[in-house]
Amino acid sequence: MNEVKTPKKPLIYYYVIVLLVLMLVNFLAMPWIAQRQIKEVDYNTFISMLEEGEVAQIQLQDQENRLLFTDKERDTVYKTALVGDPDLTERALDAGVSISGEEIQQTDPLLAFLISWVLPIVIFIAIGQYMSKRIMKNAGGPNAMMFGKSNAKVYVKSSEGIKFSDVAGEDEAKENLQEIVDYLHDPKRYQEIGASMPKGILLVGPPGTGKTMLAKAVAGESNVPFFSMSGSEFVEMFVGMGASKVRDLFKQAKEKAPCIVFIDEIDAIGKKRDGQLGGNDEREQTLNQLLTEMDGFEGNTGVIILAATNRPESLDPALTRPGRFDRRVPVELPDLKGREEILKVHARKIKVAEDVDWEKIARMASGASGAELANIVNEAALRAVRDGRRYATQADLEESIEVVIAGYQKKNAILTDQEKWTVAYHETGHALVAAMQTHSAPVQKITIIPRTSGALGYTMQVEEGDHYLMSQAELENRIATLTGGRAAEELIFHSASTGASNDIEQATKLARAMITRYGMSEDFDMVALETVQNQYLGGDASLACSPETAAEIDRQVVSVVKRQHEKALKILEENQDKLHELSKYLYEKETITGEAFMTILER
Ligand code: ADP
Repeated sequence: MNEVKTPKKPLIYYYVIVLLVLMLVNFLAMPWIAQRQIKEVDYNTFISMLEEGEVAQIQLQDQENRLLFTDKERDTVYKTALVGDPDLTERALDAGVSISGEEIQQTDPLLAFLISWVLPIVIFIAIGQYMSKRIMKNAGGPNAMMFGKSNAKVYVKSSEGIKFSDVAGEDEAKENLQEIVDYLHDPKRYQEIGASMPKGILLVGPPGTGKTMLAKAVAGESNVPFFSMSGSEFVEMFVGMGASKVRDLFKQAKEKAPCIVFIDEIDAIGKKRDGQLGGNDEREQTLNQLLTEMDGFEGNTGVIILAATNRPESLDPALTRPGRFDRRVPVELPDLKGREEILKVHARKIKVAEDVDWEKIARMASGASGAELANIVNEAALRAVRDGRRYATQADLEESIEVVIAGYQKKNAILTDQEKWTVAYHETGHALVAAMQTHSAPVQKITIIPRTSGALGYTMQVEEGDHYLMSQAELENRIATLTGGRAAEELIFHSASTGASNDIEQATKLARAMITRYGMSEDFDMVALETVQNQYLGGDASLACSPETAAEIDRQVVSVVKRQHEKALKILEENQDKLHELSKYLYEKETITGEAFMTILER
């Protein structure tokens, strides 16, 4: 889609133009007008006028070598050449005229006033009027002189617009939105039967999953104008400004109907109105206006509102009720197949070797969002250029996954020998505990090259398939695996290092969730002790229980983790030879693949 840009004329231009005009008036026009008012006469005329008593005032201008004088009524100013007349003073005395330093008013005071005060104001207003007329013509354009106007970006149909085929995966979302496209193509078919389209559609999902892209694709497919605005753009410093922007946006949209209005990050204005002290008045007014506008237009005016958010639970219930944003389209992280498709879509833009195994790459990039996958493909292309290759290879792609997820390799971070051994045992510990519990390859690959993200080693987990349920045993095994790294260090070096902080955090989170949310504790039964907020943004949980219960939860969390830690220690103890062998391999080669790992383990 092409964005329609309106030319911007910043206010500063306006001031510069006015200033220039003023300077011209004062430096050129004023002296010129003044000159025109002076009558030039010869010296003899001056003498005779003086003698006849027709002169009222005389001024000598030595520098310009001239003499100015006025007639009796002081109406007209005359000038004549200064001829160096020695008798001038005397003649003046005789005529009773003083030769004063007092300046002779060369111009009519009224005219001077008009020119230096009234004219600039007239020019000022004229230019201002002209400019505001031009801005009106480009209505919708962002301009500092237009408060309360929406500055939505308008996209019009264009041949290279985004289509559904550019959005890979997300089949359910696309299917859902296809209906909107159908409607915009042929609204009659729907109107005949009396069906009306939902007015608003809410796209919810984690960041980078293609919500914006989907909205653009709907517009691209249905060939209608597309207004795009971010929720935060409505929120202004002055109360009432946001509301007026909403009004303006809808006015524009209705003029262009059928069309699509897209509001990104709608939670910026759509947060629950809690009415608490210190609430944001401006935001609430903006939201109220949005609610009113959505009610205001009829179901079949052809304005469809798409909105995206990562935090659907924080939206005001009035916004999500039927009749407003009544349809919710989840846009989730892509699954294996989706990831493969997204990779392929983005690979069309770069040159890639023919033998690239996309499925393997997709498998390795488990948990990556669409935006991350796009980034991975681009990183691979950059890497190929850096190494002087004409196209990206499988190795480029594999390395760029690690780059995107864990950061670049730190070429000059030198680990001491002891540190390197510790990292090797730590990572092997995790993998070995995992392998002994599931009897299958637990990792794709382990490397112990430090990364710029600060990780000293990096383990690429095996894609566990699309897993929707986990049993208690599986959760416990996972905790045991997480403690495996530290367990290996304890077993071999009889000491602990700081390398396990992330493991500890994750293990604790899992154990806590088991007790407070999944009802897997000894005595709390099926009681929810925690509620999750922001499920798409990390999922923080907040406790909802008495302090006594909280203390008991803490005790149980410790006991769960402790039990698994002991289990991990036991597994490693029983397989100490393998631990040594695998760690040595990893220490020497710095990388071990899942297959190599299993071969050594099964020897
Ligand atoms: P969101 O609005 O959900 O945060 P965007 O729509 O802005 O995410 O996506 C960011 C980028 O990620 C897109 O420009 C695109 O390159 C890539 N992307 C995300 N999802 C997909 C997808 N399903 N197919 C292709 N590219 C995708």
